[in-house]
Amino acid sequence: MLVLGIESSCDETGAALISDRDGLLADALHTQIDMHRAYGGVVPELASRDHIRRAVALVDDVLQKAGKTRADIDAVAVTEGPGLAGALLVGNAVAHAIGWALEIPVLGVHHLEGHLLAARLSDPAPEFPFLAVLVSGGHTQILKVERFGHYELLGETLDDAAGEAFDKTAQLLGLPYPGGPAVSALAEKGTSGAIELARPMIHAPNLNMSFSGLKTSVLTAVHAAEDTSDETWRANLARGFVDAVVDVLAAKLVRAMRQTKLKRVVVAGGVSANKQLRARLTDEVRRRKGEIFYPPMRLCTDNGAMIAAAGLARYEAMTPEEREALRRQTGFKVRPRWPLETL
Ligand code: ATP
Ligand code: MG
Ligand code: FE
Repeated sequence: MLVLGIESSCDETGAALISDRDGLLADALHTQIDMHRAYGGVVPELASRDHIRRAVALVDDVLQKAGKTRADIDAVAVTEGPGLAGALLVGNAVAHAIGWALEIPVLGVHHLEGHLLAARLSDPAPEFPFLAVLVSGGHTQILKVERFGHYELLGETLDDAAGEAFDKTAQLLGLPYPGGPAVSALAEKGTSGAIELARPMIHAPNLNMSFSGLKTSVLTAVHAAEDTSDETWRANLARGFVDAVVDVLAAKLVRAMRQTKLKRVVVAGGVSANKQLRARLTDEVRRRKGEIFYPPMRLCTDNGAMIAAAGLARYEAMTPEEREALRRQTGFKVRPRWPLETL
């Protein structure tokens, strides 16, 4: 079975082809980062228009890379939500047009299920059950994943997402959007402990987190600084920020492992590309004789491969009746807001 995956929930247009027998055959991505950079963040209307320009070309691109034709596709998987409504509509319009023309089913995929399943494109791939630390631009959650499709939310950020904190800190330091990679690189040159920042809720007896206080603490440090162009100070501030984020996530993961007795951990979402976070979480999990899994580096942020993988897994889990109902479905909707636990 060959599944085409399409992602268009935010500022990346992605397409990919995955086969149930041979795994990921091809994937292609167009990121709009350069287009949005001048605005310091994603401009929804510009995002939608650019998805329109790129989507079909990316689909043709993965077909060519994989040596397949449109007639070889057996199903289309597309991000149905959560995300920007206009951006989601573009990917869904393309996916459903292809489905209608080829008379094949179209599966609406949850973007966060895609992020989590991206880890299953790594070798070795994690088995179920596992604890998931989902750290992205819009979400920071700890979930218990008993089996495919069953997501129990154990805790989450009460305000900003970790990725959002990276992006806002980058903005305060005059670094380019998106902030993750830039702040992380700057932090490598800094000294731990030189600037200590707030770690809100780190000791709270639950798995919830907060990152907006950390952002305020960065802002206060910026205001108090004598010279914000001083490279040593900048690196130390970036280091202080990264250490604070990593400490909070590590403390919550350790608490979650203790609470659930689960020793298998999956970390996913854009921030899971972060080197400092990977090093620390890997260390904490191994010291507790657990196993930790991440998506391949390039599949941490948004991409079509994770959507194709989630779509294939969804299709395989369906009963014959559900598949028949999917085949008969007409029209489509998008879900800009869509809690993962409701799957
Ligand atoms: P969501 O998936 O919650 O809807 P999103 O799709 O915008 O949000 P992702 O694409 O998963 O988020 O991740 C983007 C985020 O990851 C950005 O906030 C970015 O700064 C962050 N990020 C990317 N690379 C790194 C890195 N190396 N270190 C830290 N953060 C990173
Ligand atoms: Mg993005
Ligand atoms: Fe994402």
